[in-house]
Amino acid sequence: MRRNEFMSQKESMEKDPELLKIYNQSASDFLHEHGLAPLGTVLISTLVRVTSFLSLEESSAFLMLWIWLILLRRARECTVDGEKITENLHFCITLDCVCSIKQKKDEWVVETTSGHTMAARRLVMATPITVTQKLLNISSPGRTDLNVFMAKVRGTAKKKYVDGRYNVFPMGCPDVSIIDGEDGTYELYSLRADFDLSHYFDDYCVLYTKSWEPAACLGKELHFSQKGNNLFIVGDCNFPCLEAAYVSGMQAAKALLERM
Ligand SMILES: Cc1cc2nc3c(=O)[nH]c(=O)nc-3n(C[C@H](O)[C@H](O)[C@H](O)COP(=O)(O)OP(=O)(O)OC[C@H]3O[C@@H](n4cnc5c(N)ncnc54)[C@H](O)[C@@H]3O)c2cc1C
Repeated sequence: MRRNEFMSQKESMEKDPELLKIYNQSASDFLHEHGLAPLGTVLISTLVRVTSFLSLEESSAFLMLWIWLILLRRARECTVDGEKITENLHFCITLDCVCSIKQKKDEWVVETTSGHTMAARRLVMATPITVTQKLLNISSPGRTDLNVFMAKVRGTAKKKYVDGRYNVFPMGCPDVSIIDGEDGTYELYSLRADFDLSHYFDDYCVLYTKSWEPAACLGKELHFSQKGNNLFIVGDCNFPCLEAAYVSGMQAAKALLERM
C-alpha cells in the first residue's frame, strides 16, 4: 500500500512476486498449499462468503488474507461525511451524470446527461470500473461482475434462523446470509434479484431493498491507474476495498501535482 502512493497498483504488485502470486492464486489453492484445507470448509469459507459473497474457489488468496485481517485487528466502521470533505470545494463541484468522454486534440471532453460539456487537459476517472470502461471504451477480458441484492425487512424469522446474529447459507445457495439487526429487523443478502423471503420469514414487511450491480468486478488482470494522455483511473478496480480506492486516488493526486 505504501508503494502504491508513488506507483500504480499494477507496478507495485508486479514488483513483489509473493503478492502477485497470492493475487493470482485462488483462496482454496492457498489453503491446500499451506496445509489449511480442513479449516477451509468449516470456518474460512463462511467468513469469506459472508464478507465477499464468494466461494474459496472464486476468491483470490489475496482477498481472503485481507479478510483475515479482521481476525487480527479490530475492524472499524466509518461513515464518509461528503459534505464536510467538500465544504471548501463546493464552488468547483458540479453534480451530474457523465454520459460521454471523448479525446479531442490534447483535451478530454466530458458530456453529461443534463447537456453540460466540460473540457480539461487532465482527466481523473473515479467512477466504478464498469462505468469507466464503458465511457472510455476499454475492454477487460476475463473480468466478471459480482452483483449483490439486499432486502431490509421487519418480521418474524423462521425458527431455524433465530439463533445467532449471522446466518450464512451453504455454498451453492444463491442467497448468502441473513443478519439479525437485533431490533426486530433483518437484512437478507443474495446473489439473485428474485430472492424469496417467505423461505426465511413467517411474516415480514419489506422496509427497503438495495442492489449493487456490480458490487465488485473480479478478475486477475491488473489495471494501470495511469493510462497516458493525462488520463488517470482511480478506484477499487484491482481490489474491492476502500483502502485500495483511497490509495489509488493518492497516487493519481501525487502524479498530478508533479505535473503542475
Ligand atoms: C455491499 C458492499 C459492502 C462493502 N463493504 C466494504 C467494507 O466493509 N470495507 C471496504 O473496505 N470496502 C467495502 N466495500 C467496497 C467499497 O465500497 C468500494 O471498494 C469503494 O466504495 C470503492 O470506492 P470508489 O471511490 O472506487 O467507487 P464508488 O464508491 O463506487 O464511487 C464511484 C462514484 O462514481 C459515481 N458515478 C457512477 N457513474 C457515474 C457517472 N456516469 N457519472 C458521474 N458519476 C458517476 C457514483 O455515483 C459514485 O459516487 C463494499 C462494497 C459493497 C457493495
